[in-house]
Amino acid sequence: METRGVMPKERALIEIRLAGLSQGIHKFDFTCAAGDFKDSAVKDAGFSDGISVHAIVEKNDDEIAVSMETTAKAALSCDLCLAPVALELKGTYRVYYIYEQAPGQEEAADEYRLIDRNSVSIDLTEDVRETLLLSVPMKATCTDNPDCHIYLQEGSEDADNLPDSSWQESLEKLKDKYR
Ligand SMILES: [Zn+2]
Repeated sequence: METRGVMPKERALIEIRLAGLSQGIHKFDFTCAAGDFKDSAVKDAGFSDGISVHAIVEKNDDEIAVSMETTAKAALSCDLCLAPVALELKGTYRVYYIYEQAPGQEEAADEYRLIDRNSVSIDLTEDVRETLLLSVPMKATCTDNPDCHIYLQEGSEDADNLPDSSWQESLEKLKDKYR
């Protein structure tokens, strides 16, 4: 899957150069724009600005472990009042590129991928795209909308009053006792 042909290919949006990469831990930072993915799902999820990706690549004899973290702003809408909410979302994903399939690993998770020892690069574009989409929360609520906050406080006040009043009640009883 990762073996590249001799023909020069269009450079991947986000890729790790393996050629000349020594063993050990390497850090990479990428920035791109939401539009670079040319994917309507990314746009529909609320991403429109810059996306930063931090990748930690750990290369050893048997495998290359890649941990990636995406940070991006998304324009969502509040589940309670539908007001626009801008959130900074972080997503993480870890994938292992292995040179040889270990016995019994065939049905293992997607996070294990076979790679040729002579591969010159790993294309992370698709993993980053999926990590971004997975970083979108199932629920979003206002962070600084007073109208929405009033609604939230009303809901929690009733619950808060109970322990308070019963605590006060016992305090009054105590006072009576020692009066
Ligand atoms: Zn709201």
